[in-house]
Amino acid sequence: MASIALDNMALRKKVQMMFSIVFDTAWRIGSGTEGETLSDLGVVLDPAGQPILPGSSLKGRLRSTCETLAHALDLKACMLDVEASGVGCTSDVKYYHQVREDYQGATRNGLAARLDWIEQNTCDVCKLFGSPVMAGRIRVSDGQLVDWAEVVQVRDGVVIDRDSQTAVDGLKYDYEVVPPGSRFEVVLDLENPSDSDLALLGVALFEWASGATIGGFTSRGLGRFRLQDVLVRGVDMSDPKQRVQYLTKTNPNERLTDFGDWEKYFAEYIEKRAPSS
Ligand SMILES: [Zn+2]
Repeated sequence: MASIALDNMALRKKVQMMFSIVFDTAWRIGSGTEGETLSDLGVVLDPAGQPILPGSSLKGRLRSTCETLAHALDLKACMLDVEASGVGCTSDVKYYHQVREDYQGATRNGLAARLDWIEQNTCDVCKLFGSPVMAGRIRVSDGQLVDWAEVVQVRDGVVIDRDSQTAVDGLKYDYEVVPPGSRFEVVLDLENPSDSDLALLGVALFEWASGATIGGFTSRGLGRFRLQDVLVRGVDMSDPKQRVQYLTKTNPNERLTDFGDWEKYFAEYIEKRAPSS
């Protein structure tokens, strides 16, 4: 058997996905400050005044999509709350404190023991997205803006009284949104994904392709988007042809092997986790 430590560090597999995110509705990811238009709630814009779709927001949304679907693949999701989920995972501080001595013991016994301990004590979602004791296997780029209305809209909101469900007199605010139709390109990179990682990411991508939401005020109908033009490519070092192609080319488009139809590619991993019969 190969050493766990070496197995963890050697490049065995890379999977890269590229897709467009197309907003069917207006959306907003708040800047946390007053907006460019002096509205109460601004959207995040770059110095040129164009909307930003941060990789961290995309990754967070992808993670929560995976959390809601993990059980369908018989995978574990700690939801960052061991008490609520019943799944022991080092991402929850409470759990970490319970097992701290055990973890420190494993760490003293060398890298292999440490990695083995992390493997046993990390849920499947945190293995993919990262935990306080181990970097994740996925990287999500910022959205690259391709198309938008070139103007930020300001909408009015009224403060609703929670008890009476009616508007509170005189309590109004406004908020900025990016109008419908904006389009971004996104790249996901996975390093040494397991078959479970690919199944989990696959179900999340199917969910996103059928329509999902991101950002603030989604209960008011904001933030609906779809995926389009999904491409999947990569290298599996156990495949001699792919390996040689990766090691002897410099152009990224030639180094990585096109894995073909993305739905078919991920469906294979999903069916392995969730057999239909
Ligand atoms: Zn976890």
